[in-house]
Order: sequence, then C-alpha cells, then structure tokens
Amino acid sequence: MSVSPAGAQPAGSRDDDAFLRIEHVSKQFGDTRVVRDLSLAIGRGELFALLGSSGSGKSTLLRMLAGLETVSAGRIWLDGQDITDMPAYRRPVNMMFQSYALFPHMSVQANVAFGLKQEGVARGEIAERVASTLELVQMAQYAGRKPAQLSGGQQQRVALARSLVKRPRLLLLDEPMSALDKKIRQQTQIELARILEQVGVTCVMVTHDQEEAMTLADRLAIMSEGEIVQCGTPHDVYEYPNSRFVAGFIGSTN
Ligand code: ADP
Ligand code: MG
Repeated sequence: MSVSPAGAQPAGSRDDDAFLRIEHVSKQFGDTRVVRDLSLAIGRGELFALLGSSGSGKSTLLRMLAGLETVSAGRIWLDGQDITDMPAYRRPVNMMFQSYALFPHMSVQANVAFGLKQEGVARGEIAERVASTLELVQMAQYAGRKPAQLSGGQQQRVALARSLVKRPRLLLLDEPMSALDKKIRQQTQIELARILEQVGVTCVMVTHDQEEAMTLADRLAIMSEGEIVQCGTPHDVYEYPNSRFVAGFIGSTN
C-alpha cells in the first residue's frame, strides 16, 4: 500500500485490498438526502470508525450495509460480490444495535443461541458455537443467567456474542458503548478491541465518542450532512484535520 500525505488520501483509496466497497451510495427519505453520493473502501479485518454529529447519516449508512434499508443510488460490494440488492438475511453481515434488545425472559445461552436456531443450525453445532463464543467474550460462567441479572457491560458482551456467534464477515456496531457509563466504557473498549482482533472480523463502528474512535480504530471517517468530510488513520486526522469542522470534532488544536 502506498503512503500518501495525510489529507490527500480520498475516502476509498484502499481499492486494492478493499473488502467492503461503498460506491456512490445515496439515501433519500422523501425530499431529503441523508446520505449523499458516499464512497468508501474498507480493508479486510479493519476496524473502521464512523464519527459525526447527530443526524449526519451514520446509522442510515450502517442500515444500508446491513440490508435493513434500501439504497436510493449506488452499489455496495462485499468481498467482490455486489450485495446491494441482497436481502438482509442472506448477507454475511450482522448489526449490533445501540439498544442491545436481549430477550428478557431468555437465559444468556438462549439469547446467543436464538439466531442460530432461526437459521436451522444443528443442535450440537449450536451448543458448541454458543459455548465457544461465550468463552470468547468471557461470559461462559453466566450462561444460565437472565439479562436483568447482568451488569450493563455484561449485557453488552452478550449482545456482542449474539452477533459473533453467527460468524458474520462484516460486523456493524451502532454506538455499542453508548449505554455504558464512562468507567465501564473504557474497560469495555479494551475488551472489544481484543475480541475483534482475535476473531479478525471486519468491523464498522459508529460512535459519538472521538476518544473511543481514536483509541480503537485502524481508520476513521468524519461524516457531516450525509457526506464524509475526512477519512484517514486516527493519527493523520488528528494531526492534519482538513477543516475547522474536523479539528473541532476531533479535538485537535491544529
Ligand atoms: P445519525 O445516526 O448520524 O445520527 P441517522 O442516519 O439516524 O443519523 O439519520 C440521518 C437523518 O435521516 C436524520 O435527519 C433522520 O431524521 C433521517 N431519517 C433517518 N431514518 C429516517 C426514516 N426512516 N424516514 C425519514 N427520515 C429518516
Ligand atoms: Mg445513529
């Protein structure tokens, strides 16, 4: 990969090893375009963070990647396959929502197993995959508990397990830490980075916490009004913000 000066690199310049490629994607609700001709390429195994003010279109972009929202224009490619018109359930993509929405009446084990049962995975394999995934997120000893008997951080790990057990090739996290208080959030960030590294899954994470993005992400993009205003490594965006908006957002003094 060639190294170009920070700021000169357009969003989507990692074309050679792009795993996820978003090409000129727009989303329109009525007369309002909430995502505008957005292009971005993300490498295999990359942890990519999306930052931006509220209403800038981050969740809408994730929902289009997950197939939960149609695109108004443009194409989405995953590992060389055009998934733009592929229904959500067929995509090797999983989205973890801001509210974890665990089933309150089900145990941790049953919550994590649920999606696999829906897919018709054999019982023995379900047991094996659920056990190893709970091990991965260090929740094996809580398998029999109900969500209400867990802390916020533990519930978040169960939600992550429920996503990972499906072995998605692309994991989408929409503000995964927002329900956690600051102290738990920092522990959980380190834990999340370890888990994602171990699994090696490509991940796009929306966050409103720039510190979180700076710490965790391989690269990040700042969105404003449906567009990417800057994309690069945390270091490059911090050191060389291309506008006052980005500088203000990232909290750098340049
Ligand atoms: P973010 O996640 O960055 O806060 P969203 O993607 O949720 O932003 O929303 C972007 C814009 O699109 C907002 O103005 C929001 O009100 C609007 N929007 C989102 N979903 C819909 C919808 N289903 N119908 C109409 N407008 C929507
Ligand atoms: Mg959102």
